[in-house]
Amino acid sequence: MKNAYVNRVFERVKAKNANEPEFLQAVQEVLESLEPVVEKMPELEKNAILERMVDPDRIFTFRVTWVDDNGAVQTNLGYRVQFNSAIGPYKGGLRFHKAVNPSMLKFLGFEQTFKNALTTLPMGGAKGGSDFDPVGKSDAEIMRFCQAFMLELWNNIGVDTDVPAGDVGVGGREIGYLNGMYQKLARKYHTGVLTGKGMTWGGSILRPEATGYGALYFVEYMLAKAGKDIKGKTVAVSGFGNVAWGASKKAVELGAKVVAISGPDGVCEIPNGITNEMIDYMLEMRSSNRNKVEDMATKFPAACKFTAGKKAWSVKCDIALPCAFQNELNEADAKELLANGTWCVAEVSNMGCTPEAIHAFQSAGVLFAPGKAVNAGGVATSGLEMTQNCEHLSWTAEEVDERLHQIMKSIHEQCVEHGTQPDGTINYVNGANIAGFMKVAQAMLEQGVV
Ligand code: GLU
Repeated sequence: MKNAYVNRVFERVKAKNANEPEFLQAVQEVLESLEPVVEKMPELEKNAILERMVDPDRIFTFRVTWVDDNGAVQTNLGYRVQFNSAIGPYKGGLRFHKAVNPSMLKFLGFEQTFKNALTTLPMGGAKGGSDFDPVGKSDAEIMRFCQAFMLELWNNIGVDTDVPAGDVGVGGREIGYLNGMYQKLARKYHTGVLTGKGMTWGGSILRPEATGYGALYFVEYMLAKAGKDIKGKTVAVSGFGNVAWGASKKAVELGAKVVAISGPDGVCEIPNGITNEMIDYMLEMRSSNRNKVEDMATKFPAACKFTAGKKAWSVKCDIALPCAFQNELNEADAKELLANGTWCVAEVSNMGCTPEAIHAFQSAGVLFAPGKAVNAGGVATSGLEMTQNCEHLSWTAEEVDERLHQIMKSIHEQCVEHGTQPDGTINYVNGANIAGFMKVAQAMLEQGVV
């Protein structure tokens, strides 16, 4: 990094968080994008804006104790990282995954701050979760864990303070159990303290689909800007959770052909394209807690070919959509995609590509957009759910979809405004980072030293 202030801040972050590689990766990417802005705004250094932005406001860490189906007592660690509330109450999902640790949640909370700023809605950034592993757990175990988790967290969240939602390992079922326990403890019905709720108890129509739908709307805007169309294009998707499901549904609806989905066990190739029946089956695969994409090939043997140990990126496609986990697409994967002629990559997962993979795409002139822009439709629709809860109203699917469309259009415009380079090409990474940062930084400058 060339700018002295940016460099000093990053050296400090590295020294203080030496054992947190994901967090350092996320901070480095943002700081690199910000160099031209920092050059032009001396007030940022004077007010220690970067130093204040790279440290979370606070982190809650707690033990979660629960009893499994065999009667054995189990413990996990739970966390909530309240990162930044300059533009609104803390907002962001909960991740239940065996690899969850402070580095992962700090990177996610940091990214969430800029992503939420891009949505045009007033939401600060947060993330939380636990190293609880849902794989192989029964429904009763999931419920007992969610209840025990909320027993610790409930006093630190609220409609105007911090509004959690789902993320990897936390979907509608888990939000239900978490909300049930929250309402019991609070002794008062707070409608909007979690988002991603069920339709009969304050949820927003289209929230389950929103991350994937929003991502495809963003891809459409990105392609239109480049004079291209998604119709008839082949798409590879990683994962089969809520995000991959929504993305596949919308891709098919827009006339694209999803030719691969993958999981931790391997890839399913679908040469004739995924069908609606297969997309529906993804929901069953997710709720079975087996975490195996091979189940798709077992259920649809004529249409799918499963290969163990391979990723979705080994399948020839026009457009690649990482929809699973951070750093799921590395440099070797990027090279394989490039060799197969992929010309568009949109991260639907948070930080789905390694820095080396992003570099490979950008150097090859591939249309590349980062997660904090592409997947912001999920949290944006959470914001719309909060608005409906405040109004004590439920909007129609058309109204939610129309607003989601507008929000994704605005995010794309912000990326173009801040990411257009002198040669006319658009660096969506810089565009998203700068646009999100400017909004949060301005709010911090206006609200003084706090
Ligand atoms: N976990 C999602 C994300 O990464 C959604 C968060 C939310 O709806 O609050 O943005």
